[in-house]
Amino acid sequence: MINRVKGFKDILHEEGKIYEKIIGIAKEFFELNGFKQITTPILEKTELFVRSIGETTDIVQKEMFTFQDKNGEYLTLRPEGTAPVVRAYIENNLYAYGNIHKFYYYGPMFRRERPQKGRLRQFHQIGIECFGSTSPLLDAHVIYILDNLIKNFKIKEALIEINSIGCKNCRPGFKEELKKYLFKFKKDLCNDCQNRMEKNPLRVLDCKNDTCKEVVKNSPKILDFLCDECKTHFEMVKKFLKYFKVDYNINPFMVRGLDYYTRTVFEAVSTLLGGQNAVGAGGRYDGLVNEIGGKNIPGIGFALGIERIILLSELESEIKNTDVYLILLGENVYEKGLEIYQNLINENIVVEFDYEMKGLKNQLKKADRLGARFAVIIGEDELKEQVLLLRDLKESKQEKISFQELLKKLRS
Ligand SMILES: [Zn+2]
Ligand SMILES: [Zn+2]
Repeated sequence: MINRVKGFKDILHEEGKIYEKIIGIAKEFFELNGFKQITTPILEKTELFVRSIGETTDIVQKEMFTFQDKNGEYLTLRPEGTAPVVRAYIENNLYAYGNIHKFYYYGPMFRRERPQKGRLRQFHQIGIECFGSTSPLLDAHVIYILDNLIKNFKIKEALIEINSIGCKNCRPGFKEELKKYLFKFKKDLCNDCQNRMEKNPLRVLDCKNDTCKEVVKNSPKILDFLCDECKTHFEMVKKFLKYFKVDYNINPFMVRGLDYYTRTVFEAVSTLLGGQNAVGAGGRYDGLVNEIGGKNIPGIGFALGIERIILLSELESEIKNTDVYLILLGENVYEKGLEIYQNLINENIVVEFDYEMKGLKNQLKKADRLGARFAVIIGEDELKEQVLLLRDLKESKQEKISFQELLKKLRS
């Protein structure tokens, strides 16, 4: 027996329907807002992620599935969706068409994270990326779309958090102040933070370690260090969020794990998730297109984890089960029975029937196992009378009705 790779899983039974449903809801809303679908390859050159995500990040240092191809080139299974979309945007000269470009994508991502509950090494994301505008109205619109999605996904106890992490003019000053402050408490920080506080002190701000959190509580806040442009931009984002009627909290300690973010960052969090509480997250990345080799074009986007959504969503209860199990008793009944089957599926009713032509008891058991709502039973006697038995399997009631009445009854 050959088993699947650790941290990977098969999507089985009803779960596949939930994935489809979530993707369907997102696609519909993206397209209502003029977004175009983009599908990039799962495999990219390693260099793309090193340049975009940043050499000092956990993703690049520890978590990428990287291998050397036969021609010596290093390739990586994509750990996130933004860098590939930016690469495709540049490589296909998409910026030549109009000013603003809005894309959405969905698909598997790969990170070699420590295996723990709810963390898969192949996980699935839905995301958007917008290019061509620094307007705070775009930031607010993107956050509005995220807010709308988490509502449509029926995520329990969800809310939007926002912050601004400044730009290349004002962030360095903040980093210096933060480093000075952290240095005073160095011995209280976890090992990871002691290592990262020199090169990447911002990462200490979102460490999940309790003693680090204590230190961070009283640390300097980036919002106090924003330059005038960044301050005005953030004020405008907040104003437009009010116009979009999006409720949000400001979280002054929110930073992103990836180096390329500037100004607005945001998350959709659920209090039910505990430590790792983001369902979706994103931000503005005004320097990234340029960093990957394109023109100086600003961008903003977010990604949502489908597995996280499934964990927190109430959509599961809406997944369609078998509506009708069609029980046909005797070969002569099949002609009429299959006609009824075709009429029902034409009306979007989920119908199943038995291929083994077994007896009533056996077939009722199968209907039960499938969780069917109704059984429609037709035997030789019913056929002669031009009737059928409609059994409500939930309430264990049964009635005899004519063929013509069936659709009306099922609809009610
Ligand atoms: Zn700034
Ligand atoms: Zn820490």
